Amino acid sequence: MFALTVVDVMAPEFFQEGELIGVLTTQPIDRFLDYKAPEGGCHIGAFVEVPLGPRKVIGVVWSAGKGDWDYNKVRAAFRVLDVSPMRHEMRLFLGRAAEYTLTPMAAMLRLATRAPGLGDPPSMRKIYRLGTGTADRMTPAREKVLGVLRDYGGLAFTLRELAEMADVTTSVVKGLAKLDAVVEEDAPRDTPYLRLDPGYGDKELTADQETGAEALRVGLRSQDYGTTLLKGVTGSGKTEVYLEAVAECLAQGRQALVLLPEIALTAEFLTRVEACFGAKPAEWHSGVTMTERRRCWRMVGQGDAQLVVGARSALFLPYQNLGLIIVDEEHDTSYKQEDGVLYNARDMAVLRASIVGAQVVLASATPSLESWANVEAGKYQKVVLTSRYGAAVMPEMRSIDMRAEALPSTKWVSGTLKREVQARIDKGEQSLLFINRRGYAPITLCRACGHQIGCDDCDARMVEHRFLKRLVCHQCGETKPMPTVCPNCQAEDKLVPVGPGVERLAEEVIEAFPKARVAVLSSDHFGSARALKEQIVAIAEGEADIIIGTQLVAKGHNFPKLTLVGVIDADLGLQGSDLRAAERTFQLMLQVAGRAGRTEARGTALLQTYQPEHPVIRSILSGDEEGFWTAEASERKQAGVPPYGRMAGIVLSSPNVQELFDLGADMARRDGPLREIGAQVYGPAPAPIARIRGRHRVRLLVKADKGAPIQAALTKWVAQFRLTSTLRLSIDIDPQSFY
Ligand code: ADP
Ligand code: ZN
Repeated sequence: MFALTVVDVMAPEFFQEGELIGVLTTQPIDRFLDYKAPEGGCHIGAFVEVPLGPRKVIGVVWSAGKGDWDYNKVRAAFRVLDVSPMRHEMRLFLGRAAEYTLTPMAAMLRLATRAPGLGDPPSMRKIYRLGTGTADRMTPAREKVLGVLRDYGGLAFTLRELAEMADVTTSVVKGLAKLDAVVEEDAPRDTPYLRLDPGYGDKELTADQETGAEALRVGLRSQDYGTTLLKGVTGSGKTEVYLEAVAECLAQGRQALVLLPEIALTAEFLTRVEACFGAKPAEWHSGVTMTERRRCWRMVGQGDAQLVVGARSALFLPYQNLGLIIVDEEHDTSYKQEDGVLYNARDMAVLRASIVGAQVVLASATPSLESWANVEAGKYQKVVLTSRYGAAVMPEMRSIDMRAEALPSTKWVSGTLKREVQARIDKGEQSLLFINRRGYAPITLCRACGHQIGCDDCDARMVEHRFLKRLVCHQCGETKPMPTVCPNCQAEDKLVPVGPGVERLAEEVIEAFPKARVAVLSSDHFGSARALKEQIVAIAEGEADIIIGTQLVAKGHNFPKLTLVGVIDADLGLQGSDLRAAERTFQLMLQVAGRAGRTEARGTALLQTYQPEHPVIRSILSGDEEGFWTAEASERKQAGVPPYGRMAGIVLSSPNVQELFDLGADMARRDGPLREIGAQVYGPAPAPIARIRGRHRVRLLVKADKGAPIQAALTKWVAQFRLTSTLRLSIDIDPQSFY
């Protein structure tokens, strides 16, 4: 394993040409490399280009060189890149984050430099926008290009971007440019963002909202670190309140960051920001073009982007003067990155803010138990918005006892729920039916031999997706055509779907309500974020009577005509052995229910359940949130699990089962470093998903007291073992999912 000095506080601010510098590169090497400072010298934190073997790589000047190498053999850095040096605070943040998550520094640096062409000099490039000319001979390819330009109303793109988006060759675009149907222009590579005006919008806040906003402003005025949990039911105006904090931050001349859990939510949010501050902010997520990423990275680093809206990795941008981080829907599991660097963006936001003296706002209608506990412990301040804005009130919640409904095994919508849906249709209102399962059916069974079709490479069933006309493995993404013959016994036409998915539910609903307009919202059904956005807008405008959706609809969208939410299987999340099963079900049900009745008409949420007396279901229905959290907290305290204890998940994987269990058993035996801090090891056991992409998986679980130095102990423990080249070991600190 790796152990690196995080930041060298004794390092000088500037190195003269030829002086030894210690450089951290993005290459997988677990130490700093010595170079001579380049011509003109360099600052600590400077981004430099250095030789590594035959290659040129990018790195950051992290410290003075160690000098344990013949000076004459040390190579010189080529040059300093034309970007702002990495600040001390950022180096400290990357170092601490690496220590916390047990990640090599090089991987942390890669996270912090995820923009292409950082080393390129500022230059001009050609961009293409919609022109006034018309092409007399339209072809489908030309039509596609113009379609993209029209869709993005007024935006310009590089040749490659445009050709890629329209799925045509670059010569099609060039042809259009000759006809003036498309205009070719020179533009600087990285233009600054439009200034945001903190005093632009003028929404009047309610008394409740104003109290909350003022609490956040006070925090910002302290110019110091602080975290506030902003809790309020969906529709209470949390967004309005934290935008006030953003305004205060911008007025102070500091930068703000808003993290959102889902790219599909950004478009709506950008529009709100524009209404509030008069211009759009910088955007950072996987759906943003490479050119825009580079621009965002550089502008943030120059302090020329005042507000960034983005996904979790926006946390690693080079802010010069960060004053505020908002983590919206802070309970959302997508803040935990589950591959590569395993980090929780919510926790890393708090870390980063505490280093720079910034404020954090964690916003949610259903906060995580972690944040709840931090409020209880006095570490976080809490601001609560108790009622919905305007005339809207929280929906009425009831259960439907499925034991009394006597449904056939191929139907999932109860008679009671159907009658409620019909009543909404009659009134011209919308209903949402929620099921947290993609695809048509979770199981494809052979009625002749009982075989269930599984993935060849994973310990998982293949899920039938009728919309895609394929079987899909939800673990590895592998797909295959739907067979007509059982792969096990070769019987013909004996394969049947078992259980419901969102597509099968849609089929049932269309049959039951043949005249209704039914819209399905599931990620598979949309080729692009844009298509999804369009569908969401259409639904909001009333172009559907019944919406059928997965997890995707639980998050943030606002459908004014929606007055009924029906949860098809409220018990689904309660079956797992997951530590957070109760918490997740509680949050999800409240989030989904919160979609109903966001305007005047009171909403209703109906939960279909086979266990209406289950404590979690009962607390959801009664709305006794504090009661639920208190009970959940006391159970976890007793078990000594997060947030009242520390956990780390260790996953070993290899194509070879035997070496896996050998190493796992050896690790469990030689647990001295863990016992020293009073930690326990559980396992090895086959992971809940025992094989993914052909690699077998074994997991161990380490549990320790809350205050125990678990990272140091884990490092010492793991260092005892040698890994073969086929074995992979990953450590997940504070695991969120157990698969
Ligand atoms: P939340 O983030 O808590 O779900 P929002 O901030 O999205 O709530 O507010 C819900 C709706 O109510 C939005 O359409 C928002 O514009 C509106 N709203 C909330 N507070 C106000 C206010 N003070 N003035 C005008 N509209 C408001
Ligand atoms: Zn698979």
